[in-house]
Amino acid sequence: MARGLVGLFLWGAFVVAPSPAGYAGPQTLVPDANVVVFSYDFLDLDDPRVVSDGDGTPKLTFACFDEDHNLVWTRGFADIDAWCEYARNDPDLSARKTELTGWAMSQGNEEIFWPLQALMVLCPAVRDTVAAVESRPLVFDRFARTWKTPHIEFTTGENFCHQPSATVFWNPTITRAYGSPMAWDMFPPLVSLAHELVHAWQRVVEERQIYGASLEIGAIRGENLVRHAFYRKVPGHDWLRPRPGNRGYYVNGTFTTYFEDMEWSEWWPGFSPALDTFVEDR
Ligand SMILES: [Zn+2]
Repeated sequence: MARGLVGLFLWGAFVVAPSPAGYAGPQTLVPDANVVVFSYDFLDLDDPRVVSDGDGTPKLTFACFDEDHNLVWTRGFADIDAWCEYARNDPDLSARKTELTGWAMSQGNEEIFWPLQALMVLCPAVRDTVAAVESRPLVFDRFARTWKTPHIEFTTGENFCHQPSATVFWNPTITRAYGSPMAWDMFPPLVSLAHELVHAWQRVVEERQIYGASLEIGAIRGENLVRHAFYRKVPGHDWLRPRPGNRGYYVNGTFTTYFEDMEWSEWWPGFSPALDTFVEDR
């Protein structure tokens, strides 16, 4: 089966045990071939089916649906890390991990693989991106004159995609881009991973082997889809804003300012970010 399809049938052999709490409470999963989970998502925090804690605060709610999009079960988590811990210890999921989208790019590093799974559930566009990159097990790095496997690895430096080899370097501790006071300058680290994955996609799918400012349009669009998903679905991210542009811009040779913040009401998925063309196209 194609790797991209396998992801659709995650948790496919499991059905929830009957519970007096209905679907809204923590659940016990038992194997059962009768009910097949067809798709899954994290619910929006304002979805009436969201799982809440004792004082009514919505939790990160993982939800599975059958093929008619009926909710089969939900489970609430404090945050993405808690979901990763759960998913990593799910015996069924763990058994299938090597077949799943993202395993190849993670190169078996589960500290990368599980957060990447969370990111793909949160934002289906990222799943498409990773699946497309993984459709090419090797790319030719024309500068190094050797074949390389597109992958993700940790770095303690800047987030970066080495364009010729589609190698993504991800720093999971970086939560600000430029130290600007603007709200858009702050983000959860998975936003950066999503951004760099688009650059890897541009290498593999579009054969963009050299970095240029125009590559930022797609990368920032992809990044903003993830920002919007965090804003809607992950508790504690109501401060998160779209990224309006790459960094700042020059007017008559003088670097003027960072972009002003935008509200989500001013953003849409086709929004084109502004570029620092005077900085990066030289
Ligand atoms: Zn970029």
